[in-house]
Amino acid sequence: MTGGPSAGGGDPAAPANAAVSAPAALPAPLECGLKGLCPRCGAATLFAGAVRFSPTCGACGLRIGDFNVGDGPAAFLTLIWGAIVTALAIWLELSVGPPWWVHALVWVPVTAAGVVYSLRVAKGWLLAAEFRNAAREGKITP
Ligand SMILES: [Zn+2]
Repeated sequence: MTGGPSAGGGDPAAPANAAVSAPAALPAPLECGLKGLCPRCGAATLFAGAVRFSPTCGACGLRIGDFNVGDGPAAFLTLIWGAIVTALAIWLELSVGPPWWVHALVWVPVTAAGVVYSLRVAKGWLLAAEFRNAAREGKITP
């Protein structure tokens, strides 16, 4: 709750999404992803849904919705989980040879749970890295 958007004006005051704590006090970016922690205050307020960010941190007011991690994690994790699940399914088929429905019963929930959890970790990690490095969209100023 430190004010509106960082709209210039030459005021050296920190914008609402700036790191206000000492760097040592910030949670590690990977920890933010693993536990869903706010990258500024460390409260477990990063996610409002399974993979949806909260609009703001309920503890410190960080505007989490202002960050944009894009679709990179989803595309990357689809490839990684696709490869892992396919390799495990081939291994199961060749070593045990179960009926087809065993594959459906095992791999559908494993894939869904793996994608959701790894997406949370990757998105939280990326958002915390953006916060730490003060990453913003590029702007052309005349
Ligand atoms: Zn916070």
